[in-house]
Amino acid sequence: MSLDVPTRQFQRWIEEAGELIAEYYEEKSDKRVFAGKSAGEVIALFDEPLPEKSSEIESVLSEVREKVLESITNSAGPKYFGYITGGGNQVAVLAEMIKASLNQNNLKWHSSPVSTEMERLVMRWVAAFIGYPETSAGVLLSGGSVANFNCLAVARKIKSPVDVAEEGVYGSPPQTVYVSAEGHSSFDKAVDMLGLGKKYLRKIPVDEEQRIIPDALDEAIGKDKENGLHPICGIGVAGTTNTGAVDDLNAVADICEKHNIWCHVDAAYGGPAAAVSGVSHLFDGIERADSVVINPHKWMFVPFEAGGVLVKDPEHLRATFSTIPDYLKSDKTGDARTDLMEYNLPLTKEFKALKVWMTLKAYGAQKIRETIREDIDKAAYLVEKIKVEHSLELMAPAPLSIVCFRYRSPGAERNEKELNKINDELIHHVEQDGRVFLTGTKIDGATAMRVCFINHRTERRHIDELVEVVLELGELVSA
Ligand SMILES: *Cc1c(COP(=O)(O)O)cnc(C)c1O
Repeated sequence: MSLDVPTRQFQRWIEEAGELIAEYYEEKSDKRVFAGKSAGEVIALFDEPLPEKSSEIESVLSEVREKVLESITNSAGPKYFGYITGGGNQVAVLAEMIKASLNQNNLKWHSSPVSTEMERLVMRWVAAFIGYPETSAGVLLSGGSVANFNCLAVARKIKSPVDVAEEGVYGSPPQTVYVSAEGHSSFDKAVDMLGLGKKYLRKIPVDEEQRIIPDALDEAIGKDKENGLHPICGIGVAGTTNTGAVDDLNAVADICEKHNIWCHVDAAYGGPAAAVSGVSHLFDGIERADSVVINPHKWMFVPFEAGGVLVKDPEHLRATFSTIPDYLKSDKTGDARTDLMEYNLPLTKEFKALKVWMTLKAYGAQKIRETIREDIDKAAYLVEKIKVEHSLELMAPAPLSIVCFRYRSPGAERNEKELNKINDELIHHVEQDGRVFLTGTKIDGATAMRVCFINHRTERRHIDELVEVVLELGELVSA
């Protein structure tokens, strides 16, 4: 029994879904960003038994309208400044629909020759965009955390003193990995899951610009070696999640070379800015890394999920992930076939490349660069507003498109503890208010509001509104 309906009817479904999407697009600028519902209310929306009977698609779509559109966080809209969240793009919406209809599985070349070769091509394009060698091998994964895990697995495989594939890490002295204190939490997860141990992830201090201190890195590696440990990987962060700081990548590469360890660069967020004049110099040295992580689903405006891995020597990637059981051996592999299952952890993998390919084709690299440039300008605009507003204080330099700041109640002298409390409360109030959305963080122990501009839909008037909301609610919570 086929689940399909006649093609004409299917076309009508697509039109109806298209109408729903169009309605969302029409409204998304004005929608509340956080719907303001409690956890209990959202649980109640999705608390129902497994449906036994079929429903008409019209009724399913109207439930999507009522239950999804009315309660989502409007993260594709222009006033969502939280975390590092882009708004996706319209071309990729089409790509996702086409992808789902083709249902390609690029586990092996012959199961999906087009998605395999398109994935390899778009990762060469990403490499070209940021100035990384196009002879590298690339794969698309779900996101930066998985991509960082993938790269640390390669570093461990290649730099371990034992055969980790067969023997595990048991016969090795503790293997150490180095990242700045501002490194992403995915590295903590990765060293945990790779059996290396979190205490062997060395967090290297940063300078006042939140960049790794190269001498401290060099010293830490040297000390570990003296103590009989086995350093395997140094990481440079090219755009920290907290503030957008970019480590001195040449200095990190020099130190990794000196100690003969793997050099990884986490450019999940910041990487695409390497293509943009005025800031590209910050990324000098990225081309020397053995591996790079860069997320098309962040600053290349592609919708979730698309995280990218680039490994300079394709054989290193293959050596880490190639395991071929009998039931995956059935095809002839004489010609230049690449089976992506040998280059990453997933076996079944969706056709992620289509939305990246269609995005880059439709908009072109030039427009992508210009849009990144505009995001950097938006951050600079907010920084200027903060500087002239005496009840706001900039908490860290903003070299890319992340701005960290806090509210200071004018007039009253407040100590650090009181300021933390006010700003913690303010962050919560901004969420509940729903006009704009931002998240909080700590800068050198102090609570800060953190906003990130990677949504092409954000305009200056939205930034003006952000400042108005913060000032209005700030006055309220500090009264
Ligand atoms: C966002 C980010 C990650 C994690 O990426 P996800 O796609 O969210 O898993 C890793 N590193 C840095 C620097 C990031 O900004």
